[in-house]
Amino acid sequence: MATDLQIAARKIVSTNPATGETLREFESASEAQVHAAVARAQAAQPAWAEMGVRKRIAILREFQLQLHRNKSEVAQFVTREAGKPYVEALLTEVLVVLDAARFLIDNAFHLLRDEPVPHGNLAMKTKSGRVVREPYGVIGIIAPWNYPFSIPATESLAALVAGNAVVVKPSEFTSLTAIQLASLLHQAGVPGEIFQVVVGAGATGAALINAAIDKLVFTGSVSTGKQIAQAAAARLLPVVLELGGKDAMLVLDDADIEVAAAGAVWGAFVNAGQACLSVERCYVRRSLYQPFLDACMRRTARLRVGNGMEPEIEIGPLIHQRQLRNVESQVEDARAQGARVLAGGKRLPEIGANYYAPTILADVTHRMRIMREETFGPVLPVMPFDSDDEAVVLANDSDYGLAASVWTRNGARGDALARRIQAGTVMVNDVVSCFGISEAPHGGMKASGIGRSHGRFGLEEMVRIKYLDSDRLPGIEKIWWYGYGKAFARQMEGLLDGQFARGLGRRLRGALRAAGALRGKKRG
Ligand code: NAD
Repeated sequence: MATDLQIAARKIVSTNPATGETLREFESASEAQVHAAVARAQAAQPAWAEMGVRKRIAILREFQLQLHRNKSEVAQFVTREAGKPYVEALLTEVLVVLDAARFLIDNAFHLLRDEPVPHGNLAMKTKSGRVVREPYGVIGIIAPWNYPFSIPATESLAALVAGNAVVVKPSEFTSLTAIQLASLLHQAGVPGEIFQVVVGAGATGAALINAAIDKLVFTGSVSTGKQIAQAAAARLLPVVLELGGKDAMLVLDDADIEVAAAGAVWGAFVNAGQACLSVERCYVRRSLYQPFLDACMRRTARLRVGNGMEPEIEIGPLIHQRQLRNVESQVEDARAQGARVLAGGKRLPEIGANYYAPTILADVTHRMRIMREETFGPVLPVMPFDSDDEAVVLANDSDYGLAASVWTRNGARGDALARRIQAGTVMVNDVVSCFGISEAPHGGMKASGIGRSHGRFGLEEMVRIKYLDSDRLPGIEKIWWYGYGKAFARQMEGLLDGQFARGLGRRLRGALRAAGALRGKKRG
């Protein structure tokens, strides 16, 4: 565990990845500060829960209004700190959060309501039950830098509306954006103790896990996710893990080549490939392979790379040098093993230190790192296949299982294939965009994670399920409350027969035998 001194020694520097300009410096929150933040949240949470869902929804409505008013400012913040083009910041950060708020405003009340549980056990017919949804208390959120506004915001809104307090540890690369989120929530009426941000790197995140949070929602890489899962297991802390992906795109022989190529190019290069749902592997039916590659090359040649603050820019920088070196080394590994580089495959130092050209690789194989490890950069590796069955085997030959896509003009064929792919989301004829459907559950299979965010299932992650059972005949003892013996055993056999024996006669006889037990109880 990191000590206070180790954490506090670290300065967090928020930098514009497009220009290298320092935006702001922060002191990491110390372990004591993290614990104090959680203690404040814990103390304030009961009043927030007590306030009721309708009042919290009204605050969400105000937040939505404020966010809409400040949409350009928020998007510019994100572009400056994370590098993505302004339009992408507007659509994938601001719009996604406005819509997540819309979903919760419209649905949180009925989704969080007590739910009657009708049951069919005749022996229990005097009992009626309800599912009650209670907030956990304090939800810790550890977030990545690639969607620095929409990821912590969508998770926080769900946690807050359910009555939890939230403490967010944003990525050390995007603290400013998280502070912007806090300021909007506070302006809307969320009390300062109910939504807090603690800035810092991994050690600050580790301190949050060891503080008195009641649940953790982590979004980040598989390797960090595994460390988090171990730390959480030590104290049985419930976790949601939204981890990395290696999403496959399958282009079937009846796909529209131009549409599929446009989808592949956008899906691989959006946010400079730094999206958990980006197209990381592309498989194309051999008959379409060359025309598909040609279409991708034509479209890639037209893309404008540069500072995302300029309106016509389509691809921004990578977040930092470490990310760039990882992309570079995967491309080099593929090249050394015989992949053909059809576009890009190099840095763009003339634009800035963190730029990598949108890259298309052909003739890749599953022996190459580019087809096995998460790349998280603007690279589209393409490989041919000869049958739908082979395409499914290739798609499933991965440790990851976040999302995938199938491209075909035949909806039924697409659906059938989608069901065979091991992934949390499979899109037919689209990529990435599902993240913007607030009703759609988001999350992975295999190494891509545990649990869900977004929509009904994401909201359910923010509540404890309690079963509340009450007996409608409080003056009567249950027949199975002792008094065991030969006669009682026969009566209980009758109870089973009364419900499950074949034939009405046997069931009636069984029920009569069981009724004897009831008479016995009444006598005491
Ligand atoms: P990362 O794992 O390096 O960091 C994520 C967060 O964890 C950061 O806030 C970091 O400071 C913190 N952290 C690091 N070590 C920690 C530790 N030991 N204890 C507690 N916290 C710690 O990931 P990243 O580079 O910020 O983000 C990119 C990754 O996130 C990619 O793998 C991407 O696929 C994944 N991601 C997944 C989703 C999803 O929804 N599944 C969405 C976005 C990003």
